[in-house]
Amino acid sequence: MSRTIIVSNRLPTKVIRTENTLTFQPSEGGLATGLGSIYRQDSNVWVGWPGLFVEDEAEEKHVQEELLNDSMVPVFLTEAEIRDFYEGFSNSTLWPTFHYFTQYATYEQEHWDAYVAVNEKFCRAVLEQAGPDDTIWVHDYQLLLLPELLRRARPDCTIGFFLHIPFPSQELIRVLPWRMELLQGLLGADLIGFHTYGYMRHFLSAVSQLLGLNSQNGQLETPTRTVLVDAFPMGIDYERYAKAAASEAALTHEGEYREALRNTRVILSIDRLDYTKGIAQRLRAFEVLLQRYPEWRDKVSLIMVVVPSRDQVAQYASLKEEIDELVGRINAQFSTISWTPIHYFYRSFPLEELAALYRLAEVALVTPMRDGMNLVAKEFVASKADQRGVLILSERAGAARELSDAIIINPTDVGQLAESMHDALVMPEEEQIARMAAMQALVKQYDVFSWTKLFMDRLSYAKIKQLTLA
Ligand code: UDP
Repeated sequence: MSRTIIVSNRLPTKVIRTENTLTFQPSEGGLATGLGSIYRQDSNVWVGWPGLFVEDEAEEKHVQEELLNDSMVPVFLTEAEIRDFYEGFSNSTLWPTFHYFTQYATYEQEHWDAYVAVNEKFCRAVLEQAGPDDTIWVHDYQLLLLPELLRRARPDCTIGFFLHIPFPSQELIRVLPWRMELLQGLLGADLIGFHTYGYMRHFLSAVSQLLGLNSQNGQLETPTRTVLVDAFPMGIDYERYAKAAASEAALTHEGEYREALRNTRVILSIDRLDYTKGIAQRLRAFEVLLQRYPEWRDKVSLIMVVVPSRDQVAQYASLKEEIDELVGRINAQFSTISWTPIHYFYRSFPLEELAALYRLAEVALVTPMRDGMNLVAKEFVASKADQRGVLILSERAGAARELSDAIIINPTDVGQLAESMHDALVMPEEEQIARMAAMQALVKQYDVFSWTKLFMDRLSYAKIKQLTLA
């Protein structure tokens, strides 16, 4: 029987070392949930890094056995590999380039070499699992070379690839010294998926300009095969967020928050610490709101959750300082004894507390400079059982292509952002409900399970199409 193998940089379980023992913490991320139904079926597996540096062979074996019981196969990476492949090429070259932050990108030969070596390591791990006719689904920017590496070893395998971040204009791809290798790496797949048609068009134009390969209706002809390229906007587990928001625990937390905040109205901002998220611009816009509309002072607070992330990369540390300073300055300027303009949390929250914040907020401020999709926007929508609340959404988040009933803004336009907050705070209830209902219908229908199915169905179709063309 043929197997399906999911491959991503991180496994959906994180192995953590505490004192003398190892604990296995399942991740509840969207991808883990969406693909849970696949990798746990039959003899399917998920291949990826378990997030731990193993100390000896005995430990390696132990981790391997434990994970295999839950259909996972670990790829062990060394500290040097994590430094050069992950923090280096993946997060200091590809991440900034693909999010249009070339000023932050570094181009280090050593990082590239590690990127190639780790992609080859993943390839060996997958080949140990994969037979000649299996289906392999590779995820994200850390593994751009893997489809082609796998193709060489398994010419008849069905290989899908999905990119979870934006694919930028070919002008940015051109800047990369290893642009040819990266594009060639992807073309080993039978189906290449992106969140939006915009990203897909950018990819096709890069392939056309740099490799001279033409396409028609998302069908790309390489010298050896036909490759399909398509858009699959990723969804969330809608019911999970709707249920969490309706849970007893969320209601209790919400009650506590409301009591502490008294009658203050809440604008909510939730992101990982990242320069792509537009956090500083958002803070400046909130300051402008308080300056232009003094009537909101004492009445509206911004609750801002920033989840620590990638603190080993230099730009993240300086961004953290910038945010700390801005929050400090704005709070110092506007606070009163009974009102704090910005409630700032630099940590992550468990699901029920997150759900309570989504319930509490009248306005969600999702204003990234660039974001592949942005799931927080969709989670806010799923949490609003009474359909009241307003989403302010950046035109440069993938989610904006679907959630056209949000207030769509340009995140660099601080003035527009401030006005949109004011508009959201005075929006009539009927309008809030009409917009939210439309967005809920969409987020509910195109959830993460339907996303998985659409991709897998299209992948089978890509293979059948190749066979009939051959
Ligand atoms: N999130 C979380 N705990 C928190 C804050 C956020 O688990 O305290 C989750 C949030 O629910 C969402 C994810 O982190 O599912 C962020 O995904 P998104 O697509 O918005 O951005 P990314 O971090 O992937 O760039």
